[in-house]
Amino acid sequence: MQLGKRLSLFPGIALVVAVVVQVLLLLAICRSATGSQKITIAVKTSQKNHKSRIALLLRTWLSESQSSAYVFTDAEDTVLSDALDDRVFVTDCGQSHQRADLCCKTWRIIDWYVTRWATTTSTTAATGVQAAEAAVAGQNGDADDRWLCLVDDDTYVNIPVLQTVLENAARTSSTSNSNGKPSPYLYVGKPSVAGKLSLPPMFRMNYGDAPIDKYWFGTGGAGVCMNLAVARRLHAFIVGMNKTLVTLCGETGCPDDMTLGVVMEVLLGVPLRVSTKLHSHLESLRSIGDPTQEATLSYNAGAKYTNTVNAERLSKALPVSEDPSRLLSVHCSIHPTLEWCPH
Ligand code: UDP
Ligand code: MN
Repeated sequence: MQLGKRLSLFPGIALVVAVVVQVLLLLAICRSATGSQKITIAVKTSQKNHKSRIALLLRTWLSESQSSAYVFTDAEDTVLSDALDDRVFVTDCGQSHQRADLCCKTWRIIDWYVTRWATTTSTTAATGVQAAEAAVAGQNGDADDRWLCLVDDDTYVNIPVLQTVLENAARTSSTSNSNGKPSPYLYVGKPSVAGKLSLPPMFRMNYGDAPIDKYWFGTGGAGVCMNLAVARRLHAFIVGMNKTLVTLCGETGCPDDMTLGVVMEVLLGVPLRVSTKLHSHLESLRSIGDPTQEATLSYNAGAKYTNTVNAERLSKALPVSEDPSRLLSVHCSIHPTLEWCPH
């Protein structure tokens, strides 16, 4: 009798176990599917590059990214808006390669990103900081999983690898708070200079009492990421001084990426977390062993493809004549079943 009862329980238990396993699997799948949605990628571009550079991105990772990547440019373009719908922003920034115009675009991106998430939490300085700390303490859902990455228009982004880079950065967040808790502020990039730089003299005059006098910065051309917590803090800090990044770029006399490094490391005390998976064309791209395993890759668009990754060992390489940047070959090797890739 007892045995029969126990036996008759088995199918029930097996069913419950099967349902639980299935729910867990579904949760895991959903988690990995939505993970990349937590990374917002902003591409900085200019009208003159829409055809020559954005076309390549549209053919590759930008289309794959769906709602998580946006383009910030300086002129309307129906081809671009047809391809990306509401993911194109035409800024009021100038079209030149000069410091002020590039800093303007970068500021528009940060301002847009912080405002975008303002509906969930107030963006005043105090609330921004409190929200960030609460997030790390696990009291505020997943606010600290959200990231903004800024990339140039000659950059290939391997989104799953980028996601791993950012997850690792969050996991290995150092204990830099006075209370011994991990810092909620994450700034990730790859320096293109071997050692830290001295503060620009012009900046020293304005902020002479800054406690740190050397800084590092994530090279813009390699892609620079910041989590929502630090984006909010940076934004509140700059707006609180009645300034924009353009003002600060004027004060440092440096481009946008260097100025971001100065503000993060020196004024906010947020150290750069270095990722070796990010690659600008300031480094020798040929020496990367397997480009499919990297988070970002660039090519020297301005210098006629003189610095590109080595596609010889890739599983799906297109001829150089069809793929001078070698980034189509990287994309095909990551997505070998794509219709236009070699079979
Ligand atoms: N850029 C721009 N306006 C310009 C020149 C460049 O917005 O007049 C953007 C460009 O689209 C790219 C970034 O600035 O995203 C870097 O430009 P580029 O790759 O031409 O030069 P680099 O700084 O890498 O030598
Ligand atoms: Mn470039």
